[in-house]
Amino acid sequence: RTRTSAELIEAEEPVLAHNYHPLPVVVARAQGTWVEDVEGRRYLDMLAGYSALNFGHRHPDLIEAAHRQLDRLTLTSRAFHNDKLAEFAERLAALTGLDMVLPMNTGAEAVESGIKVARKWAYDVKGVAADRATVVVAAENFHGRTTTIVSFSTDETARAGFGPFTPGFRIVPYNDLAALEAAVDETTAAVLIEPIQGEAGVIIPDEGYLTGVRELTRRKGCLFIADEIQSGLGRTGRTLAVEHEGVVPDVLLLGKALGGGIVPVSAVVGRRDVLGVLRPGEHGSTFGGNPLAAAVGTAVVELLETGEFQGRAAELGVILRDGLSDLVGKGVVGFRSRGLWAGVDVDPAIGTGREVSERLMREGVLVKDTHGSTIRLAPPLTITGEELGSALGALGKVLTET
Ligand code: PLP
Repeated sequence: RTRTSAELIEAEEPVLAHNYHPLPVVVARAQGTWVEDVEGRRYLDMLAGYSALNFGHRHPDLIEAAHRQLDRLTLTSRAFHNDKLAEFAERLAALTGLDMVLPMNTGAEAVESGIKVARKWAYDVKGVAADRATVVVAAENFHGRTTTIVSFSTDETARAGFGPFTPGFRIVPYNDLAALEAAVDETTAAVLIEPIQGEAGVIIPDEGYLTGVRELTRRKGCLFIADEIQSGLGRTGRTLAVEHEGVVPDVLLLGKALGGGIVPVSAVVGRRDVLGVLRPGEHGSTFGGNPLAAAVGTAVVELLETGEFQGRAAELGVILRDGLSDLVGKGVVGFRSRGLWAGVDVDPAIGTGREVSERLMREGVLVKDTHGSTIRLAPPLTITGEELGSALGALGKVLTET
């Protein structure tokens, strides 16, 4: 007998670490924008794996690329070359307008690797004194969960109990060029920011901020690292969120959708004079750049080369923005959106983001709260206008019913 959703949720409790508080839905299968639970109930997926599923669940091109590769070769480690990695790196570099790729697996690993590369660059190229390099980051950032990354988080829940922390980070307010200017000095290896802060609630900086960061880092002689792990790969209506200001960072961090929702694939992409500082033995990963990841990653890049998904995000983003504007004053107190990505602040009198997410679940729409009364909408970029309309309808319903 297969276990019911309720039984499976109960079964997890004693055997799984409690580091998550999932919505009480147990997904058993999915296709496109829809997921189905154990009992066969269908839900519209308005979270899309925190943007790892930008192309929807089981996109046929990606599934085909994965199947084809599974039948030939899955892992070599980087002790040997594999026949898939060169093309992945060539096409990813071309897509992003940069030169070189360091393949990793998860987002946090890409961030860690980017920090290591920036420190090495600071010592080898910039001439910073040994062990003195600093990295300037923004308050309310989210870059992952490793010990070093939580060292520069400003979220107490993410930090408390996990010290001692890695030194060498300076935290400045986001969207504040004067504070950044004051924090950057001769020890600064890099400024590391999200072009749009995702976990903080889809916080979009003022027009000119990214251009300002680019100008400042160039003038002060430090690197600009853009963490586009959540904002990148079509989500905002462009391939990269930095493109909205026509800015090219020195180092780009990608993850999530790069693996098509099939395998974990992340990458540090950068200029040759930056990524070129790494020598054999100084950094690595058993799975980074494996042929299955490279095959799926190449298929992802191929989808993005068409521009179709960026176009859909831009067009449907207008429907999303208009739909949310209509809800302001009707349960929504404010929202921020770019492309198919929105942070929606719900009137706290109606409920927490969690409560609204649970009510939406009962209406057949899956979303997730970020902080307090903010919920995040980030559907697959394959969503139709009609599906988006029905999700907005369900949101309107749960916000006015109570
Ligand atoms: N950076 C950003 C901007 C993210 O949004 C995330 C995940 O939400 C990460 C890094 C970490 O990625 P991962 O969970 O794959 O380690």
